Amino acid sequence: MNSESPLPEGTSELVWLDGEWRPWSEGKIHVRTGAHMAVAGIFEGIRAYWSEERRELFVYRLSEHLLRLRESCRLLLMRTEYSVDDLKEIVTELLRRNNVRQDAYVRPVMFPSLTSSGFLSAIECPTSLFVECWPAPSARGRMKSVSACTSSWRRISNLDMVPRAKTFANYAQARLAAIESGVAGYDLPLLLNNDGYVTEGVGAGVAMVCSGTLVLPPLSAGALPSITRMSLTEIAASRLGLRIDERLFDRFECYLADELFFFGTGWEILAIRRLDGHHIGVDTSSSVVSELSRIYYESAVGEHADLLKWLTPTYA
Ligand code: PMP
Repeated sequence: MNSESPLPEGTSELVWLDGEWRPWSEGKIHVRTGAHMAVAGIFEGIRAYWSEERRELFVYRLSEHLLRLRESCRLLLMRTEYSVDDLKEIVTELLRRNNVRQDAYVRPVMFPSLTSSGFLSAIECPTSLFVECWPAPSARGRMKSVSACTSSWRRISNLDMVPRAKTFANYAQARLAAIESGVAGYDLPLLLNNDGYVTEGVGAGVAMVCSGTLVLPPLSAGALPSITRMSLTEIAASRLGLRIDERLFDRFECYLADELFFFGTGWEILAIRRLDGHHIGVDTSSSVVSELSRIYYESAVGEHADLLKWLTPTYA
């Protein structure tokens, strides 16, 4: 990305919008589309990791993200003409055209196109596609930790919405929960579902480590099928010899856990040191979470031959 560009911070020079490469300032949609997008817009958050050693930008688990994008489309009865391969080409071309040679974030967005005026009832309504990227330095090499509180807001339920889809409409509670925790002096909220079981953070999954077992809420509790979760469970089982247990748990188990953490593409891995005033875990340097993070970050820049399957090189 060109550092001399007059663009606002956090943008790239070129974006993809409906079949065309356009300058960032020309990535425009009609105002009418805004409401459609809020109700039915779906998106993905994808990271690309720059390896100085290999002089390569690795897009992390690109196929899995794009599959989830298409699945979100299906779950929300929207239609897209783009295959995973088409989308892969657009994402890598976007990074090349913007000459991205640093850690970056890529966000494809699909939303009902302007032509679909009856979008509330239109089954399989046609969609527009917008893809952009921006610089997003990774916390690689640093173990980040946060404080959290159980939110008074609930994670959306399977009966009210589609928690498995990554749609903007799902983030209304998350936004309120994030504001609530910030005002109360915590870094982030932990969201329970309507039955009082732990589900997620805001834009992040949650897991605990208890006596050599990595415990995660089942997706049916209201969690997004997280790509980071797939990586961490594979690393935990195959590299660290942990057992994996997907089951319901409440906040009280979190208070007593050996370790507790949020994870996700954007947040990466965040150890939760304090929840509702309870101190959790012990020394960071020797923890399971720090080992998981180390291997996760190494895998993202191509340091594990058997995990190269997770990476799509941009320039090779
Ligand atoms: N839950 C929600 C609601 C999210 O927005 C995210 C971020 N995409 C996650 C969990 C973590 O998912 P992933 O690991 O695929 O980024």
